[in-house]
Amino acid sequence: MNFKKALIVCLIPAFVISGCGKTTKEEVNNTTNQETLAQVSGQGTGQDTEKTESSGTEASSDDESQDAEVSRDLFAMDTYMTLTAYGEHAQEAVDKAAERVEALDALLSTGDENSEIHQLNQKGEATLSEDGGYLVERALELYDKTEGAFDIAIYPVMQAWGFPTQEYHVPDDATLKEKLILADASKVNYDKDTRKISFDRDGMEIDLGGIAKGYTSSQIMQIYQDCGVTSGLVNLGGNVQALGCKTDGSKWKVAIQSPDDTEDYLGILEIENQAVITSGGYERYFEEDGVTYHHIIDPTTGYPADSGLISVTIVSDDGTLADGLSTSLFIMGEEKAAQFWKENSEKFETIMETADGKLYVTEGIADSLTTDMEVTVINK
Ligand code: ADP
Ligand code: MG
Repeated sequence: MNFKKALIVCLIPAFVISGCGKTTKEEVNNTTNQETLAQVSGQGTGQDTEKTESSGTEASSDDESQDAEVSRDLFAMDTYMTLTAYGEHAQEAVDKAAERVEALDALLSTGDENSEIHQLNQKGEATLSEDGGYLVERALELYDKTEGAFDIAIYPVMQAWGFPTQEYHVPDDATLKEKLILADASKVNYDKDTRKISFDRDGMEIDLGGIAKGYTSSQIMQIYQDCGVTSGLVNLGGNVQALGCKTDGSKWKVAIQSPDDTEDYLGILEIENQAVITSGGYERYFEEDGVTYHHIIDPTTGYPADSGLISVTIVSDDGTLADGLSTSLFIMGEEKAAQFWKENSEKFETIMETADGKLYVTEGIADSLTTDMEVTVINK
């Protein structure tokens, strides 16, 4: 059977449900029967990031039903997001989650003059909030574990490429060299007891964009649980995290977007209680003189990572880790990434596609992935 066609048949109802207004129980059950897919899609090319919120809370028509779905779309963190929860506490959970997303966006956005990260970047020192502090701590831990591939101090280099302002251009070598000296997370001083942070060098700036959405989806799962929700799903611009299973007890099915074709999928992954986070060069990029430059920067060169990988998906119950590692493994390349997984296989699983069309899947999720592509399983 043609895999792409089969997927499209399954996917259409999911689009209808997530995009429509009032969701009746009947519609929800219909979708469930036809296999609800959380589409893992990119967040656009970055060309259209005007900040407009398109939110709408959709109460279910049948509040007594354990299956009643509440779904809400919003735009935050430069990303279209959909928050979905089921059951009698779903409305409260989704509303609280949306508030939390907006609060985190306001705290972490590098572009917002009032955010604590912006202020830190201006002053070179700050006392961080609990959220900011937690993220910096996790990011610095990842810097060590990934031997510098994940480096939140990359922001001056991101600016040199024009990514934050969308005034894209290829920087000259002298500028890049100068900015690369600043891109060094080992020069970030952070005290987790006082949450005080400072930089060793003038001009250093940080950017939590590589882990913020994974942390946000984890936080939403926590809010759902605190509200008494046992089944829910969030899709933050292709970063998916699920709570529990679907209301019919079956696993969630997540379609992993193909990096070559936004209409196509690498495969479908079945998950429960996990985050599925994908990094790819196709998510945010620009073209100059016929060359494509994307937004995941290799800190050793200052250039967009060119490791031979075109897509990396991380599956983990820790959303923050999954997000940080999707960025990191994309930079490492297949061989180094496979080795990294072998050393940390209890914490995550991965699906990686190379530029020459090979799909690598780690053994822990090989059986949960349905794909038409030829798969190479990475064993411990
Ligand atoms: P997305 O946010 O598009 O889902 P990623 O999770 O891969 O994709 O994060 C990419 C973002 O991470 C960039 O937009 C930038 O803010 C930041 N970033 C880029 N390169 C690095 C790096 N080497 N280390 C840490 N963060 C990075
Ligand atoms: Mg990431």
